[in-house]
Amino acid sequence: MSESIFTKIIKREIPANIVFENEEVIAFEDISPKAPVHILVVPKKHIATINDAGVEDAELLGKVILAAAEIAKSKGIAERGYRLVINCNEEGGQSVFHIHCHLIGGKKLSWNPD
Ligand code: AMP
Repeated sequence: MSESIFTKIIKREIPANIVFENEEVIAFEDISPKAPVHILVVPKKHIATINDAGVEDAELLGKVILAAAEIAKSKGIAERGYRLVINCNEEGGQSVFHIHCHLIGGKKLSWNPD
């Protein structure tokens, strides 16, 4: 399988504005932000889509969500609120095939799946 662009960021082969990193998870600013805060929280393990995750990944995916919540706190948007989104495949709008959780906030978000 060819490397995802996010694996290249993890390996520091391409630059990114990294805001959080530990052994299993990395988070960096989205290159095309849709809101004042738009951060991608990414497991370092390559899993292409949420369809490909197994029960063995449950703890890792929980850590991704908890990292997103911590980053929201550090960005000062936790109390106001924010959104976590995982897109899956074409109709879900996924464009990078390495699971990632969008942390979006810093403004009042509308709810329109379109
Ligand atoms: P998705 O469409 O859910 O797969 O989200 C992929 C996200 O990755 C999009 O919001 C892109 O703007 C973002 N993205 C693509 N390439 C980069 C990059 N090199 N650095 C940061 N964000 C990126």
